[in-house]
Amino acid sequence: MIDNHGQVQPPKQVVVCGGGIIGVCTAYFLAKKGATVTLIERSCIAGGASGKAGAFLALHMCDGGPLSLLARASFDLHRSLAEELNGSRSYGYRPLTTLTITVGESGPKPPSKMLILPSWVDGRVNPGEIIGTIETTAQLDPQLFTRALLAKAVSEYGVEVVMAKVEGVAVEEEGVVVKVDGGGLIGGDAVVLALGPWTSKLPELASKFRVYGKKVHSVVLEPKESDAITPHALFATYYPGQEMGPVDPDFFSRPTKDVYICGPSVEVGTPDAPELVFPDPESIEMLENVAAMVSSYLSKDNVEIKSEEAGLMPCTKDELPVMGEVPGMKRCYVASGHGYWGILFGPTSGVAMAELVLDGHATIVDLECFSPARFDM
Ligand SMILES: Cc1cc2nc3c(=O)[nH]c(=O)nc-3n(C[C@H](O)[C@H](O)[C@H](O)COP(=O)(O)OP(=O)(O)OC[C@H]3O[C@@H](n4cnc5c(N)ncnc54)[C@H](O)[C@@H]3O)c2cc1C
Repeated sequence: MIDNHGQVQPPKQVVVCGGGIIGVCTAYFLAKKGATVTLIERSCIAGGASGKAGAFLALHMCDGGPLSLLARASFDLHRSLAEELNGSRSYGYRPLTTLTITVGESGPKPPSKMLILPSWVDGRVNPGEIIGTIETTAQLDPQLFTRALLAKAVSEYGVEVVMAKVEGVAVEEEGVVVKVDGGGLIGGDAVVLALGPWTSKLPELASKFRVYGKKVHSVVLEPKESDAITPHALFATYYPGQEMGPVDPDFFSRPTKDVYICGPSVEVGTPDAPELVFPDPESIEMLENVAAMVSSYLSKDNVEIKSEEAGLMPCTKDELPVMGEVPGMKRCYVASGHGYWGILFGPTSGVAMAELVLDGHATIVDLECFSPARFDM
Protein backbone atom coordinates (compact mmCIF):
# COMPACT_ATOMS: atom_id res chain seq x y z
CA MET A 1 0.00 0.00 0.00
CA ILE A 2 1.21 3.52 -0.81
CA ASP A 3 0.73 6.26 1.81
CA ASN A 4 0.02 9.99 1.21
CA HIS A 5 3.75 10.70 0.85
CA GLY A 6 4.23 8.05 -1.82
CA GLN A 7 5.93 5.66 0.63
CA VAL A 8 5.26 1.92 0.39
CA GLN A 9 3.67 0.77 3.65
CA PRO A 10 3.35 -2.84 4.83
CA PRO A 11 -0.21 -4.17 4.46
CA LYS A 12 -2.44 -3.44 7.42
CA GLN A 13 -3.33 -6.42 9.58
CA VAL A 14 -7.04 -6.28 10.36
CA VAL A 15 -8.99 -8.65 12.58
CA VAL A 16 -12.70 -8.98 11.73
CA CYS A 17 -14.88 -10.55 14.44
CA GLY A 18 -18.12 -12.23 13.31
CA GLY A 19 -18.79 -14.48 10.32
CA GLY A 20 -22.25 -13.18 9.37
CA ILE A 21 -22.84 -11.24 6.16
CA ILE A 22 -21.51 -7.98 7.62
CA GLY A 23 -18.25 -9.50 8.90
CA VAL A 24 -17.70 -11.52 5.73
CA CYS A 25 -18.37 -8.55 3.40
CA THR A 26 -16.05 -6.38 5.52
CA ALA A 27 -13.30 -9.04 5.44
CA TYR A 28 -13.73 -9.49 1.68
CA PHE A 29 -13.45 -5.80 0.78
CA LEU A 30 -10.63 -5.16 3.29
CA ALA A 31 -8.59 -8.00 1.78
CA LYS A 32 -9.44 -6.94 -1.78
CA LYS A 33 -8.08 -3.49 -0.91
CA GLY A 34 -4.78 -5.00 0.22
CA ALA A 35 -5.14 -5.67 3.96
CA THR A 36 -4.06 -8.90 5.63
CA VAL A 37 -7.28 -10.14 7.24
CA THR A 38 -8.12 -12.66 9.95
CA LEU A 39 -11.84 -13.41 10.42
CA ILE A 40 -12.95 -14.91 13.74
CA GLU A 41 -16.28 -16.77 14.07
CA ARG A 42 -17.42 -18.68 17.14
CA SER A 43 -20.15 -20.86 15.63
CA CYS A 44 -20.41 -21.33 11.88
CA ILE A 45 -20.27 -18.98 8.91
CA ALA A 46 -23.73 -17.43 8.35
CA GLY A 47 -25.14 -19.47 11.24
CA GLY A 48 -27.12 -16.50 12.63
CA ALA A 49 -29.63 -14.20 10.89
CA SER A 50 -27.33 -14.14 7.85
CA GLY A 51 -28.24 -17.75 7.08
CA LYS A 52 -31.93 -17.50 7.96
CA ALA A 53 -33.06 -14.33 6.23
CA GLY A 54 -35.52 -14.04 3.38
CA ALA A 55 -32.75 -12.12 1.59
CA PHE A 56 -35.13 -9.91 -0.30
CA LEU A 57 -33.33 -6.97 -1.93
CA ALA A 58 -34.98 -3.69 -2.93
CA LEU A 59 -33.57 -0.64 -4.67
CA HIS A 60 -36.14 1.88 -3.51
CA MET A 61 -37.87 0.75 -0.33
CA CYS A 62 -35.65 2.86 1.97
CA ASP A 63 -36.03 6.01 -0.16
CA GLY A 64 -36.71 9.28 1.62
CA GLY A 65 -34.67 8.46 4.74
CA PRO A 66 -31.07 8.12 5.94
CA LEU A 67 -30.83 4.54 4.60
CA SER A 68 -31.65 5.43 1.01
CA LEU A 69 -28.08 5.73 -0.33
CA LEU A 70 -26.94 2.63 1.52
CA ALA A 71 -29.82 0.64 0.00
CA ARG A 72 -29.41 1.95 -3.53
CA ALA A 73 -25.62 1.48 -3.60
CA SER A 74 -25.98 -2.02 -2.15
CA PHE A 75 -28.69 -3.10 -4.60
CA ASP A 76 -26.33 -2.18 -7.47
CA LEU A 77 -23.34 -3.82 -5.77
CA HIS A 78 -25.32 -7.05 -5.25
CA ARG A 79 -26.14 -7.04 -8.97
CA SER A 80 -22.47 -6.67 -9.97
CA LEU A 81 -21.31 -9.25 -7.40
CA ALA A 82 -23.89 -11.67 -8.81
CA GLU A 83 -22.31 -11.24 -12.26
CA GLU A 84 -18.79 -11.66 -10.85
CA LEU A 85 -19.60 -14.72 -8.70
CA ASN A 86 -22.15 -16.29 -11.07
CA GLY A 87 -24.74 -15.63 -8.35
CA SER A 88 -27.72 -16.96 -10.29
CA ARG A 89 -26.12 -20.41 -10.25
CA SER A 90 -24.08 -20.32 -7.07
CA TYR A 91 -26.41 -18.58 -4.63
CA GLY A 92 -29.84 -18.24 -6.19
CA TYR A 93 -29.64 -14.54 -7.11
CA ARG A 94 -32.54 -13.47 -9.30
CA PRO A 95 -34.79 -10.47 -9.92
CA LEU A 96 -38.48 -10.91 -9.06
CA THR A 97 -41.82 -9.09 -9.00
CA THR A 98 -43.16 -7.87 -5.66
CA LEU A 99 -46.81 -7.39 -4.64
CA THR A 100 -48.81 -6.53 -1.57
CA ILE A 101 -51.77 -8.72 -0.60
CA THR A 102 -54.35 -8.85 2.19
CA VAL A 103 -55.08 -12.30 3.59
CA GLY A 104 -58.31 -13.58 5.07
CA GLU A 105 -60.74 -11.30 3.28
CA SER A 106 -63.60 -12.93 1.46
CA GLY A 107 -66.10 -11.58 -1.04
CA PRO A 108 -65.83 -10.64 -4.70
CA LYS A 109 -62.54 -9.32 -5.98
CA PRO A 110 -62.27 -6.74 -8.76
CA PRO A 111 -61.24 -8.70 -11.89
CA SER A 112 -58.62 -6.13 -13.00
CA LYS A 113 -56.82 -6.46 -9.67
CA MET A 114 -56.88 -10.27 -9.89
CA LEU A 115 -54.69 -10.04 -12.98
CA ILE A 116 -51.67 -9.08 -10.91
CA LEU A 117 -51.82 -12.21 -8.73
CA PRO A 118 -49.63 -15.16 -9.75
CA SER A 119 -51.74 -18.26 -10.49
CA TRP A 120 -50.47 -20.16 -7.41
CA VAL A 121 -51.88 -17.43 -5.12
CA ASP A 122 -55.42 -18.85 -5.29
CA GLY A 123 -56.60 -18.56 -1.66
CA ARG A 124 -58.49 -16.06 0.51
CA VAL A 125 -56.47 -13.14 -0.71
CA ASN A 126 -57.13 -9.66 -1.98
CA PRO A 127 -54.42 -8.24 -4.22
CA GLY A 128 -52.95 -4.85 -3.39
CA GLU A 129 -50.34 -3.24 -5.60
CA ILE A 130 -47.19 -4.10 -7.49
CA ILE A 131 -44.48 -2.46 -5.35
CA GLY A 132 -41.39 -3.84 -7.07
CA THR A 133 -40.43 -5.02 -10.54
CA ILE A 134 -37.57 -7.13 -11.87
CA GLU A 135 -35.65 -3.86 -12.20
CA THR A 136 -36.10 -2.86 -8.55
CA THR A 137 -36.43 -6.06 -6.48
CA ALA A 138 -34.34 -9.25 -6.28
CA GLN A 139 -33.46 -12.11 -3.94
CA LEU A 140 -30.69 -14.55 -3.10
CA ASP A 141 -29.92 -17.41 -0.71
CA PRO A 142 -28.13 -15.56 2.12
CA GLN A 143 -26.17 -18.51 3.49
CA LEU A 144 -24.89 -19.52 0.05
CA PHE A 145 -24.02 -15.89 -0.75
CA THR A 146 -22.07 -15.34 2.48
CA ARG A 147 -20.17 -18.60 2.09
CA ALA A 148 -19.43 -17.97 -1.61
CA LEU A 149 -18.01 -14.53 -0.84
CA LEU A 150 -15.88 -15.90 1.99
CA ALA A 151 -14.61 -18.73 -0.24
CA LYS A 152 -13.42 -16.11 -2.72
CA ALA A 153 -11.94 -13.96 0.06
CA VAL A 154 -9.93 -16.98 1.26
CA SER A 155 -8.84 -18.34 -2.12
CA GLU A 156 -8.10 -15.06 -3.93
CA TYR A 157 -7.25 -12.58 -1.19
CA GLY A 158 -5.78 -14.82 1.52
CA VAL A 159 -8.29 -14.18 4.32
CA GLU A 160 -7.57 -16.49 7.27
CA VAL A 161 -10.58 -17.92 9.15
CA VAL A 162 -10.22 -18.76 12.86
CA MET A 163 -13.04 -20.61 14.66
CA ALA A 164 -13.05 -19.20 18.21
CA LYS A 165 -15.19 -17.15 20.58
CA VAL A 166 -14.10 -13.52 20.95
CA GLU A 167 -14.09 -12.63 24.64
CA GLY A 168 -12.65 -9.13 24.65
CA VAL A 169 -10.64 -6.46 22.84
CA ALA A 170 -7.74 -4.41 24.15
CA VAL A 171 -6.52 -1.27 22.43
CA GLU A 172 -2.79 -0.78 22.91
CA GLU A 173 -0.20 1.77 21.82
CA GLU A 174 0.84 -0.21 18.75
CA GLY A 175 -2.44 -1.80 17.73
CA VAL A 176 -5.26 -3.98 18.98
CA VAL A 177 -5.39 -7.38 20.65
CA VAL A 178 -8.42 -9.66 20.43
CA LYS A 179 -8.80 -12.16 23.27
CA VAL A 180 -10.39 -15.48 22.32
CA ASP A 181 -11.57 -18.41 24.43
CA GLY A 182 -8.88 -20.72 25.71
CA GLY A 183 -6.62 -17.74 26.41
CA GLY A 184 -5.53 -17.07 22.81
CA LEU A 185 -4.59 -13.57 21.63
CA ILE A 186 -4.87 -12.37 18.02
CA GLY A 187 -3.20 -9.04 17.26
CA GLY A 188 -3.60 -6.54 14.44
CA ASP A 189 -3.42 -2.87 13.47
CA ALA A 190 -7.21 -2.58 13.70
CA VAL A 191 -10.28 -4.65 14.59
CA VAL A 192 -13.83 -4.59 13.20
CA LEU A 193 -16.53 -5.99 15.49
CA ALA A 194 -19.42 -7.37 13.41
CA LEU A 195 -21.06 -9.59 16.00
CA GLY A 196 -24.71 -8.97 15.06
CA PRO A 197 -27.01 -9.01 18.13
CA TRP A 198 -24.04 -10.23 20.22
CA THR A 199 -22.12 -6.96 19.70
CA SER A 200 -23.24 -5.38 22.98
CA LYS A 201 -22.38 -8.57 24.87
CA LEU A 202 -18.70 -7.73 24.46
CA PRO A 203 -17.73 -6.17 27.83
CA GLU A 204 -15.85 -3.24 26.22
CA LEU A 205 -18.92 -2.18 24.19
CA ALA A 206 -21.77 -2.80 26.63
CA SER A 207 -21.73 0.74 28.05
CA LYS A 208 -21.21 2.54 24.72
CA PHE A 209 -24.34 1.64 22.73
CA ARG A 210 -26.99 -1.07 22.60
CA VAL A 211 -27.52 -3.57 19.81
CA TYR A 212 -30.28 -6.04 20.68
CA GLY A 213 -32.02 -8.95 18.98
CA LYS A 214 -35.49 -9.19 17.47
CA LYS A 215 -36.60 -12.75 16.85
CA VAL A 216 -38.14 -13.50 13.46
CA HIS A 217 -39.58 -16.90 12.52
CA SER A 218 -39.43 -18.52 9.11
CA VAL A 219 -40.58 -21.66 7.33
CA VAL A 220 -39.53 -23.10 3.98
CA LEU A 221 -42.20 -25.13 2.19
CA GLU A 222 -41.59 -27.34 -0.84
CA PRO A 223 -44.85 -27.61 -2.80
CA LYS A 224 -45.60 -30.96 -4.41
CA GLU A 225 -46.72 -29.08 -7.53
CA SER A 226 -43.65 -26.91 -7.62
CA ASP A 227 -43.81 -26.04 -11.33
CA ALA A 228 -46.66 -23.64 -10.60
CA ILE A 229 -44.44 -21.46 -8.41
CA THR A 230 -43.37 -18.25 -10.19
CA PRO A 231 -40.69 -15.69 -9.11
CA HIS A 232 -42.74 -13.48 -6.81
CA ALA A 233 -42.40 -11.79 -3.44
CA LEU A 234 -45.64 -11.14 -1.56
CA PHE A 235 -45.87 -8.66 1.32
CA ALA A 236 -48.99 -9.85 3.12
CA THR A 237 -51.19 -8.25 5.75
CA TYR A 238 -53.13 -10.78 7.78
CA TYR A 239 -55.76 -10.07 10.45
CA PRO A 240 -55.72 -13.08 12.84
CA GLY A 241 -58.85 -12.04 14.76
CA GLN A 242 -61.15 -9.13 15.56
CA GLU A 243 -59.39 -8.15 18.78
CA MET A 244 -55.89 -8.55 17.38
CA GLY A 245 -53.79 -6.22 15.24
CA PRO A 246 -52.54 -7.25 11.80
CA VAL A 247 -49.42 -9.35 11.26
CA ASP A 248 -47.29 -8.98 8.16
CA PRO A 249 -45.78 -12.23 6.89
CA ASP A 250 -43.58 -12.02 3.78
CA PHE A 251 -43.58 -14.73 1.09
CA PHE A 252 -40.58 -15.24 -1.21
CA SER A 253 -40.66 -17.99 -3.83
CA ARG A 254 -37.14 -19.23 -4.53
CA PRO A 255 -35.42 -20.53 -7.68
CA THR A 256 -35.50 -23.99 -6.07
CA LYS A 257 -39.35 -23.61 -6.30
CA ASP A 258 -39.56 -23.64 -2.51
CA VAL A 259 -41.53 -20.88 -0.82
CA TYR A 260 -39.88 -19.10 2.14
CA ILE A 261 -42.25 -17.32 4.57
CA CYS A 262 -41.17 -15.14 7.50
CA GLY A 263 -42.45 -12.70 10.13
CA PRO A 264 -43.33 -11.00 12.46
CA SER A 265 -40.52 -9.76 14.77
CA VAL A 266 -40.41 -9.53 18.57
CA GLU A 267 -37.67 -8.20 20.89
CA VAL A 268 -36.10 -10.99 22.97
CA GLY A 269 -33.04 -11.50 25.15
CA THR A 270 -29.94 -12.59 23.25
CA PRO A 271 -28.85 -16.16 24.13
CA ASP A 272 -25.18 -17.06 24.20
CA ALA A 273 -24.92 -18.28 20.59
CA PRO A 274 -26.91 -18.46 17.31
CA GLU A 275 -27.63 -22.19 17.73
CA LEU A 276 -29.54 -21.36 20.93
CA VAL A 277 -32.17 -19.28 19.08
CA PHE A 278 -35.16 -21.65 18.91
CA PRO A 279 -38.46 -21.16 17.08
CA ASP A 280 -41.73 -20.91 19.08
CA PRO A 281 -44.25 -23.55 17.88
CA GLU A 282 -47.21 -21.06 17.85
CA SER A 283 -45.37 -18.65 15.54
CA ILE A 284 -44.42 -21.48 13.18
CA GLU A 285 -48.01 -22.72 13.17
CA MET A 286 -49.32 -19.23 12.40
CA LEU A 287 -46.97 -18.95 9.38
CA GLU A 288 -48.01 -22.37 8.06
CA ASN A 289 -51.72 -21.54 8.53
CA VAL A 290 -51.38 -18.24 6.66
CA ALA A 291 -49.51 -20.05 3.90
CA ALA A 292 -52.46 -22.42 3.46
CA MET A 293 -54.87 -19.45 3.36
CA VAL A 294 -52.80 -17.76 0.64
CA SER A 295 -52.36 -20.76 -1.64
CA SER A 296 -53.76 -24.26 -1.98
CA TYR A 297 -50.28 -25.22 -3.26
CA LEU A 298 -48.96 -24.37 0.23
CA SER A 299 -51.55 -26.22 2.33
CA LYS A 300 -50.19 -28.82 4.77
CA ASP A 301 -51.16 -31.78 2.59
CA ASN A 302 -49.50 -30.31 -0.47
CA VAL A 303 -46.07 -29.44 0.86
CA GLU A 304 -43.00 -30.92 2.42
CA ILE A 305 -41.71 -28.75 5.25
CA LYS A 306 -38.02 -28.11 4.59
CA SER A 307 -37.29 -25.91 7.60
CA GLU A 308 -38.90 -24.25 10.63
CA GLU A 309 -36.50 -21.73 12.16
CA ALA A 310 -35.99 -18.47 14.00
CA GLY A 311 -33.23 -15.89 13.63
CA LEU A 312 -32.19 -12.82 15.62
CA MET A 313 -32.07 -9.53 13.71
CA PRO A 314 -29.50 -7.10 15.16
CA CYS A 315 -31.39 -3.87 15.98
CA THR A 316 -30.74 -0.42 17.47
CA LYS A 317 -33.03 2.06 19.20
CA ASP A 318 -33.17 4.46 16.22
CA GLU A 319 -33.36 1.63 13.64
CA LEU A 320 -30.13 2.67 11.96
CA PRO A 321 -26.98 0.52 11.70
CA VAL A 322 -24.03 1.39 13.90
CA MET A 323 -20.85 1.71 11.82
CA GLY A 324 -17.71 3.59 12.78
CA GLU A 325 -14.86 3.85 15.28
CA VAL A 326 -15.91 3.04 18.83
CA PRO A 327 -15.68 6.18 21.02
CA GLY A 328 -12.61 6.04 23.25
CA MET A 329 -11.15 2.99 21.45
CA LYS A 330 -8.80 3.97 18.65
CA ARG A 331 -8.61 1.55 15.70
CA CYS A 332 -11.52 -0.47 17.11
CA TYR A 333 -14.50 -0.29 14.75
CA VAL A 334 -18.03 -1.64 14.90
CA ALA A 335 -20.40 -2.70 12.08
CA SER A 336 -23.73 -3.99 13.39
CA GLY A 337 -27.41 -3.21 13.96
CA HIS A 338 -28.49 -3.62 10.32
CA GLY A 339 -32.01 -4.70 11.31
CA TYR A 340 -34.49 -5.68 8.59
CA TRP A 341 -32.11 -4.95 5.73
CA GLY A 342 -28.75 -6.49 6.67
CA ILE A 343 -28.57 -8.76 3.62
CA LEU A 344 -29.27 -5.85 1.30
CA PHE A 345 -26.82 -3.55 3.14
CA GLY A 346 -24.03 -6.16 3.48
CA PRO A 347 -21.85 -5.37 0.44
CA THR A 348 -21.94 -1.58 0.77
CA SER A 349 -21.34 -1.82 4.52
CA GLY A 350 -18.30 -4.00 3.74
CA VAL A 351 -16.88 -1.48 1.25
CA ALA A 352 -17.57 1.44 3.60
CA MET A 353 -15.88 -0.28 6.56
CA ALA A 354 -12.86 -1.23 4.41
CA GLU A 355 -12.51 2.40 3.27
CA LEU A 356 -12.90 3.72 6.81
CA VAL A 357 -10.30 1.35 8.28
CA LEU A 358 -7.72 1.66 5.49
CA ASP A 359 -8.24 5.23 4.19
CA GLY A 360 -9.67 6.99 7.24
CA HIS A 361 -13.05 7.79 5.64
CA ALA A 362 -15.74 6.09 3.55
CA THR A 363 -16.62 7.42 0.11
CA ILE A 364 -19.26 4.89 -1.01
CA VAL A 365 -21.72 6.23 1.60
CA ASP A 366 -21.47 8.87 4.30
CA LEU A 367 -21.16 7.02 7.61
CA GLU A 368 -21.73 10.11 9.78
CA CYS A 369 -25.33 9.29 10.74
CA PHE A 370 -24.37 5.67 11.59
CA SER A 371 -21.58 6.65 13.99
CA PRO A 372 -21.58 4.86 17.37
CA ALA A 373 -20.87 8.29 18.92
CA ARG A 374 -24.53 9.26 18.32
CA PHE A 375 -25.65 7.21 21.34
CA ASP A 376 -25.69 8.93 24.70
CA MET A 377 -25.64 6.15 27.32
C1 LIG B 1 -36.09 -14.27 9.52
C2 LIG B 1 -35.28 -13.11 8.99
C3 LIG B 1 -35.58 -12.57 7.74
C4 LIG B 1 -34.80 -11.51 7.23
N1 LIG B 1 -35.07 -11.08 5.96
C5 LIG B 1 -34.24 -10.14 5.39
C6 LIG B 1 -34.44 -9.74 4.03
O1 LIG B 1 -35.35 -10.22 3.35
N2 LIG B 1 -33.59 -8.80 3.51
C7 LIG B 1 -32.56 -8.25 4.22
O2 LIG B 1 -31.83 -7.42 3.69
N3 LIG B 1 -32.34 -8.62 5.53
C8 LIG B 1 -33.16 -9.54 6.14
N4 LIG B 1 -32.98 -9.91 7.44
C9 LIG B 1 -31.97 -9.19 8.26
C10 LIG B 1 -30.55 -9.75 8.08
O3 LIG B 1 -30.60 -11.16 8.09
C11 LIG B 1 -29.62 -9.26 9.20
O4 LIG B 1 -29.69 -7.84 9.31
C12 LIG B 1 -28.16 -9.64 8.90
O5 LIG B 1 -28.06 -11.02 8.62
C13 LIG B 1 -27.25 -9.29 10.08
O6 LIG B 1 -25.97 -9.76 9.77
P1 LIG B 1 -24.78 -9.67 10.82
O7 LIG B 1 -23.57 -10.18 10.15
O8 LIG B 1 -24.73 -8.29 11.41
O9 LIG B 1 -25.26 -10.59 12.05
P2 LIG B 1 -25.29 -12.19 12.20
O10 LIG B 1 -25.79 -12.86 10.99
O11 LIG B 1 -26.00 -12.44 13.48
O12 LIG B 1 -23.76 -12.58 12.36
C14 LIG B 1 -23.04 -12.33 13.54
C15 LIG B 1 -22.02 -13.45 13.70
O13 LIG B 1 -21.18 -13.15 14.80
C16 LIG B 1 -20.89 -14.36 15.46
N5 LIG B 1 -20.51 -14.07 16.85
C17 LIG B 1 -21.30 -13.56 17.82
N6 LIG B 1 -20.60 -13.43 18.96
C18 LIG B 1 -19.35 -13.89 18.70
C19 LIG B 1 -18.16 -13.99 19.48
N7 LIG B 1 -18.12 -13.59 20.76
N8 LIG B 1 -17.04 -14.48 18.90
C20 LIG B 1 -17.05 -14.86 17.58
N9 LIG B 1 -18.15 -14.78 16.81
C21 LIG B 1 -19.28 -14.30 17.36
C22 LIG B 1 -22.19 -15.15 15.39
O14 LIG B 1 -21.95 -16.53 15.61
C23 LIG B 1 -22.67 -14.81 13.99
O15 LIG B 1 -22.21 -15.75 13.04
C24 LIG B 1 -33.75 -10.95 8.00
C25 LIG B 1 -33.47 -11.47 9.27
C26 LIG B 1 -34.23 -12.55 9.77
C27 LIG B 1 -33.89 -13.09 11.15
